[in-house]
Amino acid sequence: MIPQYKCNPPQWTEIYSQSNLPAELQSLRALTMNLWWSWQPRAIRLFQSIDPELWAQTDGNPCWMLHLLGAERIAELCQDQHFLAEVQALYDELQAYLQERPDETRPSVAYFCMEYGISNTLHIYSGGLGILAGDYVKEASDSNVRLTAVGLLYRYGYFTQSLDPSGNQVAHYVPQNFHNLPLEPVLNERGERLTLHLEMASLPVACQVWRVPVGRVSLYLLDTDVPENGDLAKSITHSLYGGDWENRLRQEYLLGIGGTMLLKQLGITCDVYHMNEGHAAFMNVERLVNLVEDRGLPCDVALEVVRASSLYTVHTPVPAGHDYFEDALIDRYFTPFYSRLGISRDEFIQLGKDSHGSGGKFSMSVLALHTSQEANGVSKLHGDVSKRMFAPVWEGFFPEESHVSYVTNGVHLPTWAAPEWQQFFVRHFGADYLNHQSQEEMWARIMSVPSEDIRQIRQCLKRRLIQHIQSTIIKTHGEIGLPPQLAKATLDELQERALYIGFSRRFATYKRAHLLFEDLETLAKILDNEERPVRFIFAGKAHPADGGGQALIKRIIEVSRMPQFVGKIIFLPDYDIALAKTLIPGVDVWLNNPTRLMEASGTSGEKAEMNGVLNLSVLDGWWYEGYKEGAGWALSAERTYTDQHLQDQLDAMTIYQLIEQEIVPTYYADMPTGCSDRWVDYIKRSMLYIAPHFTMRRMLDDYYERLYNKLAVRSELLEHQGYQQARDIVAWKQRVAATWDTITVQEATFEGVMREPNYNGQHSDPTFRVTIDAGQVEAELVAELIVTTRDDLTGEVQYVGKDLFHEVMPRMGTTRTYELTVPSAQPGKYQIAVRLRPYLPELPHLMDFAYVRWISF
Ligand SMILES: *Cc1c(COP(=O)(O)O)cnc(C)c1O
Repeated sequence: MIPQYKCNPPQWTEIYSQSNLPAELQSLRALTMNLWWSWQPRAIRLFQSIDPELWAQTDGNPCWMLHLLGAERIAELCQDQHFLAEVQALYDELQAYLQERPDETRPSVAYFCMEYGISNTLHIYSGGLGILAGDYVKEASDSNVRLTAVGLLYRYGYFTQSLDPSGNQVAHYVPQNFHNLPLEPVLNERGERLTLHLEMASLPVACQVWRVPVGRVSLYLLDTDVPENGDLAKSITHSLYGGDWENRLRQEYLLGIGGTMLLKQLGITCDVYHMNEGHAAFMNVERLVNLVEDRGLPCDVALEVVRASSLYTVHTPVPAGHDYFEDALIDRYFTPFYSRLGISRDEFIQLGKDSHGSGGKFSMSVLALHTSQEANGVSKLHGDVSKRMFAPVWEGFFPEESHVSYVTNGVHLPTWAAPEWQQFFVRHFGADYLNHQSQEEMWARIMSVPSEDIRQIRQCLKRRLIQHIQSTIIKTHGEIGLPPQLAKATLDELQERALYIGFSRRFATYKRAHLLFEDLETLAKILDNEERPVRFIFAGKAHPADGGGQALIKRIIEVSRMPQFVGKIIFLPDYDIALAKTLIPGVDVWLNNPTRLMEASGTSGEKAEMNGVLNLSVLDGWWYEGYKEGAGWALSAERTYTDQHLQDQLDAMTIYQLIEQEIVPTYYADMPTGCSDRWVDYIKRSMLYIAPHFTMRRMLDDYYERLYNKLAVRSELLEHQGYQQARDIVAWKQRVAATWDTITVQEATFEGVMREPNYNGQHSDPTFRVTIDAGQVEAELVAELIVTTRDDLTGEVQYVGKDLFHEVMPRMGTTRTYELTVPSAQPGKYQIAVRLRPYLPELPHLMDFAYVRWISF
């Protein structure tokens, strides 16, 4: 028989077909190639008007949309004079913006971060940290400071979320097509693609580099998914926070070491180096190498220089949330660095250890602290939490004395205020409102705006959200198995006059997304009110490895399908920047109920403030500073119970009570359709007293005033004249270190202090006297009386204060005597001891050289 079929396998060749963009539209293309458009509502409107369907289909990605635009539509656009004029106007505006000279009076900054949430179209972020970094880059551009940002380009980014019919989260990893993104390949001086070559534990890794223009700022992204790499090397940049620990190490290696290599190749030097979260801390290892190899500095001197220009920002309030690597893993990747730095293996490993050994592992946050002069948390409360968390790094000092400071997070106003609000700001605050965005005086003008103007914006934004929910339900009810009658009932319940309460963020368990469901009966009573309807909208992703977080999502879905909650509690899938921009401005109240002290800052509530949305939140993170009476609602900062379950019950009850007794009555006061005048007064007060203090402009200015300026000044001083001051400091530290153990205590006495309670006796002011033999130590020494109290029950030691001894002169040989007389302190029981430490005025703070000798009486 004749075989009836035969075919060889096809080899497909990939080609691209694209319509030719005529010269008239080259300015349009230029607009799409700078992410400046992502915070220009006018540009977004223009793109959308080209082809609303294609715009939606490409997830609002103008580069991609232009690639898909048919020849016919292109020809039409070229004839559309009105359209062309608008393109030209925006193009001119961008060019004028780009041509302004950068502000050279402020220090230049290199900024490293694992994720950047700039636009929904660039999937290199997962949550708050990324959004913050993205907002920061945008504000750096608007403020025209010299900032260079470095990150990684992930092929798959973070996952997109859908739900299965049982309410389980399904994670999809969708590859990004880099051709459809505003990425420019970075070229070397010969005009070829710049490639970095790294060697990670004998694995050769080639890395290409892309530049993303974000207004005036360049964001450089490293990408190992290149043909010359093997599969393992290619996969390094495949996903954000995916893969195993070793891949996390490779990513952090790439960011820190590779990113610093890149800056060197591009000839970019900065005054200040800012690691946004400990992930980036390896940057300082490479900077040390550069100083040792290129400048011939000893490693100790290099460390002084690197430290003086480095800032570490921590975003995680619990040590367990930080990155730790096994020492053996560090050895595999960093052994070549030990000899390049001219230090021993143990000396290197110690850079990642606190005084208790960091639980036997190498800690990225400790590496960051040991190589950075300054460190900060991201809100006032979180600054205090961080001082405590990092106390084990500097034994002998108390959190109250720590140099760890804070800058409270903010949000980029033109990104997060809805376009309607931005028009409102122009109308009422003036065209240059952005230049005054962190000043209350400007926002105060809102007090005289008629309520109706504000109500109209609020209704318009709510309508947009409702439309979005409707179309989401229509699109997804099939795939998530929502029965038709439930889908219809949900749509019916979406009334415009209802009070909408929103909750969305990463579903980490500490954020307690389930809190509202503590008492379903009470909740049902609140929601089941025909006259004063209330709705809850949830959204958020749980990390694929976080079973607890995913269970919370499932619980919300389950509750949302109970008859009494259908259409009243809604979960929207796939929370991202685009959804946040519709959801946050569209609700009336933004809810946040984290476990206390776990929310480092939180920023979504700040986005709410920029849109006249009122916050209902635990006094944690930014809200601890932000809350003002009559401008939102707060749950107390203190815990009542140590038992978390009881605390959850109490917090839920408080939330129900606030909603029932304050929020609903205020919203509907004398106004069956909601958004009463009283409510608008709340909005006005919140926009006047809260909004100006949580903008990204304010945050950037704080970083300069509190941290960058100081670092720039001191690091310049250290580098001056061949690093002379750095060398002097090192010489001094070396002498102290070599002789420190030759100090001996001869006598420590006091008079006029009671060892036992004595209620009727008279006594004089206490005098303390310490005599030491300084041995071979020549440095100045400081003796301080440290006063603490000890909790009899827990044994916990609390810092009370300190007093400085004066040295009794003249010295006799190497003997030094210190004396202190203090007026009687507050009555009570104290624990006292004397702390002796070396002193050099050139050091930036106490922890810089943490040598301590405790002397007891
Ligand atoms: C703002 C934002 C976050 C951060 O929300 P928090 O309340 O600060 O946790 C996370 N994801 C997206 C998409 C956001 O826009």
